[in-house]
Amino acid sequence: MAQTTPNHTQTVTGWAAHEQSGKVTPYTFKRRENGINDITIEVLYCGICHTDLHYINNDWGITMYPVVPGHEITGVVTKIGSNVKNFIVGDKVGVGCPAASCLECEFCTTDRENYCDQIQFTYNGIFWDGSITYGGYSTMLVADHRYVVKVPENLPMDAAAPLLCAGITVYSPFKDSGLLDSPGKKIGVIGLGGLGHVAVKFGKAFGHHVTVISTSPLKEKEARDRLGAHDFIVSTNPQQMKAGKRTLDFILDTVSAHHSLGPYLELLKVEGTLSIVGAPDKPIDLPSFPLIFGKRSVKGSMTGSIKETQEMMDVCGKYNITCDIELVKTDKINEALLRLSKNDVRYRFVIDVADKSPRL
Ligand code: NAP
Ligand code: ZN
Repeated sequence: MAQTTPNHTQTVTGWAAHEQSGKVTPYTFKRRENGINDITIEVLYCGICHTDLHYINNDWGITMYPVVPGHEITGVVTKIGSNVKNFIVGDKVGVGCPAASCLECEFCTTDRENYCDQIQFTYNGIFWDGSITYGGYSTMLVADHRYVVKVPENLPMDAAAPLLCAGITVYSPFKDSGLLDSPGKKIGVIGLGGLGHVAVKFGKAFGHHVTVISTSPLKEKEARDRLGAHDFIVSTNPQQMKAGKRTLDFILDTVSAHHSLGPYLELLKVEGTLSIVGAPDKPIDLPSFPLIFGKRSVKGSMTGSIKETQEMMDVCGKYNITCDIELVKTDKINEALLRLSKNDVRYRFVIDVADKSPRL
């Protein structure tokens, strides 16, 4: 049943999962009025992140049904609050994962609010007014302007949408590991999906040698020809894994399913780093020997700050980086979710929420 919170008077059409069925259905709900710090956005496009699937299926045991997923949102500003000075009606904007944070802690005050202890997300979060947040599988969004970024003019709004989560999630660990301005490193990307394919593009744009490490031999040709990966290791092929031992400076792990880090860590040089962004429901196996014998490090990373997200969008504008997408109409969301669950997407589904294409 739709929530009833004072000031939540705007009726919105969206798509929600009501149970662990892996499916969404049309759902009408209420959003808050546009407050003084808010921006109202007509949603044009929304990417389908694997995180949406984790929530729809309650993989992590934290889903508050009904859940309206979607945190890779692009759209147009239709209304601004009186405190909003950096956006005007008509601006092309994007909204990613964060919807609110405490604004006061050491992380919020140093542009690292993605690590605020009280961070709330664009969906399945609890906003300042106590309401449950609903995401971008919906025609309209009200967002606090402090969690909104601008989309560069030269980027198409559909192929830019996944940058709001997939893009920033892989950009942030690259930046954190000093890979934005130190070309010539050997970088591995585990998992050629939504996050992984953007990581390949960033790795190349920043002048690195990029190796894709994949369970899908069929992805090799397009990884090399279309995305420009320099190398491709099939992780289920012991010879290829052996040949790749101690070759990489940095690995980004984007895998959505349970796996062991052991074989991947062997691919790192001594003192190499593996950064985890994938979020499987079960704990990842972390054997100690490859860590000890190679003095290697493993760390994690969670999306990025809003400042960093704007920076990433501007970098994408500069290098013309967008996502390789399959655009789907709203009546095909469930088909897309099913295909995503079967690792059958090149490389991100994006929902054509506004569907402005001419009708026949
Ligand atoms: P995706 O498009 O489904 O890509 C995941 C890729 O992982 C697949 O394409 C596949 O690549 C690989 N894979 C799947 N099962 C595997 C297995 N059993 N062993 C090894 N590799 C496997 O998903 P995504 O949208 O990129 O998201 C990936 C993960 O990141 C999800 O868990 C998501 O929740 C998480 N995530 C985290 C953050 C964060 O802030 N840290 C943000 C967004 C998403 P190959 O076919 O090449 O093997
Ligand atoms: Zn996401």
